[in-house]
Amino acid sequence: MAIPPPEVLAQQLLALHADSPQPVALFDPDDVLCFANEAFCQTFHVRPDGHTRWIDMMRANLAQARGNVVSATDHEAWLAAAASRRGKQPFRAFEADLRDGRWIWMSETTHANGWMLCSANDITALRTEDRALRQERDLAMRAALTDPLTGISNRLHFMQQLDQQLRNFAITRMPLALAVLDLDHFKAINDQLGHDAGDRVIRDFAHLLQQCSRRGDGCGRVGGEEFMLLMQDVDLPQAQAILQRLQEQVRASRPLPAQPERGYTFSAGLALAEPGESAAQWCKRADLALYQAKAQGRDRWVLSAPTQGLVPEAEPLPPSDSKA
Ligand code: GH3
Ligand code: MG
Ligand code: MG
Repeated sequence: MAIPPPEVLAQQLLALHADSPQPVALFDPDDVLCFANEAFCQTFHVRPDGHTRWIDMMRANLAQARGNVVSATDHEAWLAAAASRRGKQPFRAFEADLRDGRWIWMSETTHANGWMLCSANDITALRTEDRALRQERDLAMRAALTDPLTGISNRLHFMQQLDQQLRNFAITRMPLALAVLDLDHFKAINDQLGHDAGDRVIRDFAHLLQQCSRRGDGCGRVGGEEFMLLMQDVDLPQAQAILQRLQEQVRASRPLPAQPERGYTFSAGLALAEPGESAAQWCKRADLALYQAKAQGRDRWVLSAPTQGLVPEAEPLPPSDSKA
């Protein structure tokens, strides 16, 4: 008998998944829930409606003490950390406990085009005696990749993502943009308002940075008040538009309740990946561009000139300072 055509197979797969007691869901590249079987809907109290994203689903569950068991009290930091690990590799699986008492083995398969299949197996009955040990190991591994102040990727995790994306770039040539971002005159915030206020500003920036990055992108805190953003599959105008939006949001942000007038700004260096370039060379170019942005007066970004005589297709926008 011949194998049925793909549309028949797709139909059967969907019908079988729909009836399966194992939670199964499909997320699009923007992390919007596009398909969920009844088991998934009941486990995570959600239905695909064309706009609910994974983070909305998790946030709603956390707020109502449903879905995953999360011991962290700072839900936004937990969400930031979970989002920073989500969809960063083609496949990953991990153990999770649910508020309803079940333990699941959740696997995430992410296609290069950004679509993600999530499926969970109920492992409540399996190897309960080792469970605490396995969970501690998972927590330690996650902590090693996460910046404790902001919940986003730390330098180690960010650099791992950068290396991986650069290897993909060598094969696919899918455009990649890197921005190094540094808060302006941050020392003054610490000196005038105290370290706690400084920490609050750092957390605010990390939050805005993560909001502007998509699942396939990476963002990390790589130093005290220095961050990096890796933008996947963007050309120069798109990368500049992302930085512009971030810059507007940061300028408008007032993260200090005791100083409601006090804002802050950042400067950035932007560099598009070039064929044959190492991660260190690429970061160096972005760093030099950041240095120029600082020298030109801050609150702006500067595009790094290509090193190999390659001229980007689009003309760079003028300096981002909207007051100029
Ligand atoms: P520029 O515009 O040139 O970047 O000036 P700046 O003041 O931001 O730069 P500088 O590098 O001199 O100051 C960074 C300060 O960030 C110094 C350090 O005390 C502070 N810092 C580093 N890590 C942390 C942190 O985790 N929390 C707080 N509150 N401050 C931090
Ligand atoms: Mg600074
Ligand atoms: Mg700095």
